[in-house]
Amino acid sequence: MKISNTKKAVILGIRFDGNSSLRHGTAEAPEEIRSILYNGISNLCTENGIDLEQDKQWMDAGDLIPDRNFSFPETIHTSISTYLNQGLRLLILGGDHSITYPSIQAYAKRYNELNILHLDAHPDLYDSYDGNRYSHASPFARIMEENLAKRLVQIGIRTMNPHQKSQADRFNVEIIHARDWEINKCPVFQGPVYLSIDLDVLDPAFAPGVSHPEPGGLTTRDIISIIQSLRTTVVGCDIVEYNPRRDTLQITGTVVVKLFKECLGKLLEE
Ligand code: MN
Ligand code: MN
Repeated sequence: MKISNTKKAVILGIRFDGNSSLRHGTAEAPEEIRSILYNGISNLCTENGIDLEQDKQWMDAGDLIPDRNFSFPETIHTSISTYLNQGLRLLILGGDHSITYPSIQAYAKRYNELNILHLDAHPDLYDSYDGNRYSHASPFARIMEENLAKRLVQIGIRTMNPHQKSQADRFNVEIIHARDWEINKCPVFQGPVYLSIDLDVLDPAFAPGVSHPEPGGLTTRDIISIIQSLRTTVVGCDIVEYNPRRDTLQITGTVVVKLFKECLGKLLEE
């Protein structure tokens, strides 16, 4: 899709949960996020002062949906590359976390010194999970094997096991475990940053609507503070693993919409 050159950022939904290991439903997230975004309960202002309702620098590019005649990771990669080649930044709405691998493949072609900040309860570094090398538990193993990132920093981890620990050591992943988390430990990056937010980084008290809830997580304000603390250019974000089927009273969906606004506000900064 050719986008007007007055635009700076696009929203891209990815309706896919085919690499989820247990529960399904994250494919329904993009639709639910849009419905909450526009329900009128909250305005569309970001905390850095951008009114997304008035701002014309972003547009919604709709959703990618799997088609059995095409390889879906290839579709994701190609679509994202098309936007990046027009100088756009993307806010990607998953979907399960497997979509981050084809997304980063596209980003790495555009940015050769890419930093990734990954917020998650899980390190997602399995060499393969249930026999699936493209599982939502494995994207960062694929990304690091292919040297697609200069630096990978993970925050909020609280499910580390020996296999993933050895993978993290092998790939020099920098980890700030949930047990050590403090806002002043937020990393400082040089060069472009891609932010990948798995909703289960949040404590299930804040975001119960995920497929793999893990107690002992971060607060909504922690995540917002992390987004706002980034001082170098954020060139892309994804928000993944929101599972509307597991949500009640749109508690999680409302948090996702808040993070959507803050991420988009960050992409539109400067
Ligand atoms: Mn996770
Ligand atoms: Mn994940």
